[in-house]
Amino acid sequence: MKVFVTGGAGYIGSHTLVALLAAGHEVCVYDNFDNSSPVALARVRQLTNRDMAVVEADVRDNDALTRALTDFAPDAVVHFAGLKAVGESNDIPLRYYQTNVTGTMNLLAAMDAARCKRIVFSSSATVYGEAQYLPFDEEHPIAPTNPYGRTKAMAESVIGDWASATPDASAVLLRYFNPVGAHESGRIGEDPQDIPNNLMPFVAQVAVGRRAKLSIFGDDYDTRDGTGERDYIHVVDLAAAHLAALEYSARAVGCEAINVGTGQGITVKELVAAYEAACGQPIAVEIAPRRPGDVASSYAATTKAERLLNWCAALDVDDMCANSWLWQSENPMGFEGD
Ligand code: NAD
Ligand code: UDP
Repeated sequence: MKVFVTGGAGYIGSHTLVALLAAGHEVCVYDNFDNSSPVALARVRQLTNRDMAVVEADVRDNDALTRALTDFAPDAVVHFAGLKAVGESNDIPLRYYQTNVTGTMNLLAAMDAARCKRIVFSSSATVYGEAQYLPFDEEHPIAPTNPYGRTKAMAESVIGDWASATPDASAVLLRYFNPVGAHESGRIGEDPQDIPNNLMPFVAQVAVGRRAKLSIFGDDYDTRDGTGERDYIHVVDLAAAHLAALEYSARAVGCEAINVGTGQGITVKELVAAYEAACGQPIAVEIAPRRPGDVASSYAATTKAERLLNWCAALDVDDMCANSWLWQSENPMGFEGD
């Protein structure tokens, strides 16, 4: 199958490329390298011993996108390209709407021009907002609490309307919970450009000596040990979910939102303990005030993914930490070292 992958050089995209190429698919990556490095693609080629087409361009560039899609004529699209930092989305909301919403609209129009009717979209559990109940199932109300989440909810609506209006179209909205970890080779992984916003990359940078200590944002939540609880999902499991979603999109029409998580909550303290075991050294921590906007707990109902995609997570928190540590310790400065 021919798969057009926007944002393929990024963290989740690069791991999904490995899975796609290993399964024998033909791939075209479309990425402007806004938050990624061509080195990631070189490493994907090394890991898989396969090549791929690469177009360096922006999803906001309608003409370039239409040209790339009509030239490649894919069977399906996986749409990762986007901006993803919640805090930044408060500061530069228009850039988030242009990239995440207008970029998605451009992509769908270009797919129409290329007669491509299948899309798998990177959505996020953040579209649910405050939990009215747990675990989050796909019927939970959509009420995002920040601009980033609203761009994802809007893009979901746009894709749903496009799928309704396009005969035989198939769209899968994958709502990721907390993607972490790295490929087991340690050759590709998450490479934040600035101070990491997310827990696991921050812990990894403390472990490797790039940062002095982790601030734990609150230990007075209503959870087992008072620290925030999240559903961490190994990025290699997440990559496999994309292949399962592509297969599903070949046999289904319409638009489905599907959670991608393990169904299990892990607290900040539990994740730090697992990372200490993986790296064999203590992680310095301090208890800091709660981070504004954080919720106590978030974890997924996973039955829809099992039922529709025949997919469930296979890797656990020890795998996530061990693989993250291998990547971080062998690439302390990320892809910049190359
Ligand atoms: P990432 O930043 O590593 O990857 C995104 C890729 O898109 C990068 O290669 C970047 O260069 C590219 N890109 C950004 N703006 C672009 C533009 N205007 N035109 C073309 N390419 C552009 O992020 P990721 O963690 O791999 O996330 C991939 C997708 O999954 C994003 O849409 C993100 O919102 C979504 N998501 C991520 C998480 C997470 O925690 N990582 C959670 C839920 C959803
Ligand atoms: N967290 C923390 N210190 C950090 C980053 C995150 O204590 O430096 C906590 C955060 O409060 C939350 C959990 O770790 O309880 C996961 O945060 P992350 O930003 O990775 O994911 P999200 O909150 O977006 O689900």
